Amino acid sequence: MLALTKRALLGGAFALAATAAQAQGFPNKPITMIVPFAAGGPTDLIARIVGDHMSRSMGQQVVIENVAGAGGTTGITRAARSPADGYTIMMGHMGTHGAAPGLYPQLAYNPQTDFTPIGLAAGTPIVIVTKKDFPASTLQEFVAKVKADGDKITQAHAGVGSVSHITGLLFNQASGGKPTSVPYRGTGPALNDLVAGNVDFMADQIVNVAEQIKAGTVKAMGVATAQRNPALPNLATTTEGGLANYQVTAWNAVFAPKGLPADVTAKLTEALTKAVTDPVIKKRLEDLGADVPDAQRASPAALATLVKSENERWVPLLKAANITAN
Ligand code: ASP
Repeated sequence: MLALTKRALLGGAFALAATAAQAQGFPNKPITMIVPFAAGGPTDLIARIVGDHMSRSMGQQVVIENVAGAGGTTGITRAARSPADGYTIMMGHMGTHGAAPGLYPQLAYNPQTDFTPIGLAAGTPIVIVTKKDFPASTLQEFVAKVKADGDKITQAHAGVGSVSHITGLLFNQASGGKPTSVPYRGTGPALNDLVAGNVDFMADQIVNVAEQIKAGTVKAMGVATAQRNPALPNLATTTEGGLANYQVTAWNAVFAPKGLPADVTAKLTEALTKAVTDPVIKKRLEDLGADVPDAQRASPAALATLVKSENERWVPLLKAANITAN
């Protein structure tokens, strides 16, 4: 009995020593960053931009793994259940960590208690974009057309609970349109279809659409912020376009499973902060229209506060709007 207890205690001590040693050498092998949407969309793009810098500063590859489904909640559920050793992290967003609890009553994770926040990567204003030959050039004309054509208009999004889904539904409430919804596994593939003219419009994170807007392969009807975006100075705001109550900015942020050792968390946060404050990365993201955080806004504490306030904002809002996953 005594011997057993002693062995158990010793075992515990070895396990502790092993954890400490692991943290000291962290990272000593590649890190997987789960992106809960298809490749080529904004979450994937931001993950690849900051992940590449993190790989260089930590001296270990950050490998992106796309695990799409259920508006991002499939990948985040898988990531949440991974070992809390720093070798599996994830790029979450306003949908997966802010609004999902308001849409999925059976959600397998709690955004506030099942994760170790690492830091905010980018704020991403929402832009309303249409296929390039859509018969409207201003938000007013667009709203008139979606109202007149009802379900003949098609609206792309990245699945129930995704940013494009939620902000798209809010847009429909604001505009009075009732389009037919067309889900994709991310707004990367949705944008391809928009460029091809197979779908009429979507509401999406600016970083996904800024270059296509500039290239003229899609048309932008408005950016949903109070001020115009420096990356697209010619694009009117939704307020200028007559929908002052439609203002929304999404965000992407890095999380790890809950219980990550503090020193591993600190190393990941340091690498993320180095990435977003690097002038080249900052400019790259700002050229795509992102709002890039400073070190304070990229801290784990600031992200924990953001998640809580986003849950408090979106859950009642979705309920009041009668928006559910069903
Ligand atoms: N922006 C997307 C969304 O609507 C997802 C993606 O990053 O592909 O949530």
